[in-house]
Amino acid sequence: MLRPAACLFDLDGLLLDTEPSHAEAWSRAAAHFGLQLTPERLLQLRGRRRLDCAQQVQTWIEADCQLQVGCEALLARRQPIAEQLLALAPAMPGARALVQRCQQLSIPMAMATSSSRAAVALKAAPHPWLAAIAVRVHGDDPELRRGKPAPDVFLLAARRLGVDPRASWAFEDSPAGAQAAKAAGCQVHVLRPEGIAAGLYPAGMHWLSSLEDLPLG
Ligand SMILES: [Mg+2]
Repeated sequence: MLRPAACLFDLDGLLLDTEPSHAEAWSRAAAHFGLQLTPERLLQLRGRRRLDCAQQVQTWIEADCQLQVGCEALLARRQPIAEQLLALAPAMPGARALVQRCQQLSIPMAMATSSSRAAVALKAAPHPWLAAIAVRVHGDDPELRRGKPAPDVFLLAARRLGVDPRASWAFEDSPAGAQAAKAAGCQVHVLRPEGIAAGLYPAGMHWLSSLEDLPLG
């Protein structure tokens, strides 16, 4: 029987299939300012907070296009595109069943996400099963100092549940998120997306080919 003290879930690309929408929104926003985002650069944005991503894209635009673009201007371009796409994002296969299984087994759950509270509300609206994860740390949480890859999101999620992060399982898809969860001391289960090399993740990951094949009992 495998039973963690708690399950700490990432949201984007783990419970919900939102990463194609995020990538599309950043690509279109950057293209407006003359920058074509490569797949490698899009992967670097994955799992990080919106403002951290905006600052990164801003740096690339300055370096490659010799153009000064404010984060506000970049986000003003990106947000409407993102909101339209994200509201339609489907669940990842097995996500709903995994959350319901944790609920049946009375395993405490928390959401540990880089997404803001408003963005989570938008994405979660078509997925009422996510309400089972009542404890949440958002990217714009007033108590959160540093975003992923810093461990703060997972440490705060564990603290709110009153569990030891080292006895908890974290579920992640991005290298930045996996790094955050490992630094927090969690056992990290990674749903590695196609196109991201295993070498970009920290050592000691538990690889999942799907959320459906988790040995939880
Ligand atoms: Mg993610």
